[in-house]
Amino acid sequence: MPLIIITGLPTSGKTTRARQLHAYLAARLGPDGPYRLHYISDATQGVPRRVYDLSPAALPAHVRSANACEKDARAAVYAAVKRALSPRDIVVLDGLNYIKGWRYQLFCEAKNVATPSCVVQVGGGVARARAANEARLAGRVGDGGAEGGGDDGPYERGNWENLVFRYEEPNPMTRWDSPLFTLAWDDDEAQAREVFAKIWDVIAGEGRKVVRPNQ
Ligand code: ADP
Ligand code: MG
Repeated sequence: MPLIIITGLPTSGKTTRARQLHAYLAARLGPDGPYRLHYISDATQGVPRRVYDLSPAALPAHVRSANACEKDARAAVYAAVKRALSPRDIVVLDGLNYIKGWRYQLFCEAKNVATPSCVVQVGGGVARARAANEARLAGRVGDGGAEGGGDDGPYERGNWENLVFRYEEPNPMTRWDSPLFTLAWDDDEAQAREVFAKIWDVIAGEGRKVVRPNQ
């Protein structure tokens, strides 16, 4: 994109949908498709959950500040996107992507390489996302460990609540949050495929916009 920016609350099902979308695109592209497909997430960049934790107690002694920690993480993700992005590379960016200014930056990056971008908002409300995190805290299943940065680990409670508080909803009236697609928690496979097909159309199909840099 084509850059596909996944966004949503913590443990709202982003990675689940990102993986489904990636599989859909891979199948649709086939082995010799005109696009290369990339999947980038905090986990692929080794970014652990705790970088989002602003409580002083969560901070290792050598780190400057909690905020700096998250900024470094964003820089790593940004560099990975920048390396991959081109008109012939489709990047699925799985992550919170909760800051409006950050999504704007990503939009500009795509525009710079003359490739389209879109935002996919995933979720089914705060209560369900919280319950999913609680289930992970209870089981600590698939936890990459505090240092591991796995995609399937829980967030500490305070960190989770704070991220929900800080979350900046995408606004389809802005250029950088559009086109905006939504995938609800309850969407079944057929409904998800419908949304995936619309995303395909915008990034690689008939509906693909011509993007000119810096205009
Ligand atoms: P995120 O990437 O937003 O943190 P995940 O995709 O890892 O969220 O999902 C969090 C938890 O919720 C996982 O245990 C996952 O199996 C479950 N889950 C995600 N999406 C759905 C869904 N649409 N329906 C039911 N369970 C889901
Ligand atoms: Mg995830």
